[in-house]
Amino acid sequence: MRKLRNIAIIAHVDHGKTTLVDKMILQGHLFRNAASAGELILDNNDIERERGITILSKNVSVIYKDYKINIIDTPGHSDFGGEVERVLNMADGVLLLVDAFEGTMPQTRFVLQKALALGKKPIVVINKVDKPNCRPEFVNEQVFDLMFTLNANEEQLDYRTVYGSAKQGWMSNKLGERTDNITPLLDAIIDDIPEPARVEGTPQMLITSLEYSPYVGRIAVGKVTRGTLRPGMNVTLAKRDGVTMVKTRIKDLMTFEGLGKSKAEEVPCGEICAIVGIEGFEIGDTICDYDNPEPLEPIAIDEPTMSMLF
Ligand code: GDP
Repeated sequence: MRKLRNIAIIAHVDHGKTTLVDKMILQGHLFRNAASAGELILDNNDIERERGITILSKNVSVIYKDYKINIIDTPGHSDFGGEVERVLNMADGVLLLVDAFEGTMPQTRFVLQKALALGKKPIVVINKVDKPNCRPEFVNEQVFDLMFTLNANEEQLDYRTVYGSAKQGWMSNKLGERTDNITPLLDAIIDDIPEPARVEGTPQMLITSLEYSPYVGRIAVGKVTRGTLRPGMNVTLAKRDGVTMVKTRIKDLMTFEGLGKSKAEEVPCGEICAIVGIEGFEIGDTICDYDNPEPLEPIAIDEPTMSMLF
């Protein structure tokens, strides 16, 4: 079974998330096409650019050593509270990315609080240390105080801080030490973020987000939290009302590979996947066993969040 790490990046807008993910992908040698090298590849959504906030999730992955690191994109704005919580649930740890000059921002605080409450292990990345007048030491202390205020547990408070410049493409475990790549960060992810739980049994996957393809229609995205999914498998779609059960079949399965998706012959527990062929699903529904459906608790989206979204 492929070794996995599932992470989400928490960052205030402009603190460098896109630049960092871009560099991670380059470092993972997944972005081999020299023609596109140097261009930003994550921020390709016009709405995002226009509004300056990430409102759509796009999962990407990086192969590093013998690990696959799934990077789950998170909305950067506090209005999207429900979305943040759902997305964070797929991650087994978070990178808290903070600008070494600006420090922590209110929106980061909101998302960090959610991540800590969900028990996620953080790694702190103090970015933009190349900037004149930056204050990485002060910002690191500020982050520690914030974690403490937000009731981080002992294990969470024992986080690692990585310093660097996403723009220049380097990260270091030591403040003041310049390196020439971002492998210290990738190693930190492998060492500090736990392997996703691998639970045997009948399949369970909470539908966490959806994508749309003009060819195959709506695609259900989520993390397999029990058992293994395979194409052609008969499954039950347990609706989030807790009552309605729809018998259906998985047509195709895909995993996130680099910047795109590839068909998968099986998706083990712990992996994040996209399912084609499930009709009429909604976010919060569960894909589960055909004969003995055991739905997962849907993740509540609180009313204020919903009203802010529409
Ligand atoms: P996002 O909104 O968090 O995705 O931020 P971006 O990755 O789009 O970066 C916002 C701006 O900060 C861009 O102009 C980047 O070039 C710049 N930036 C990102 N990382 C660094 C860094 O390490 N040092 C400096 N000086 N600028 C950076």
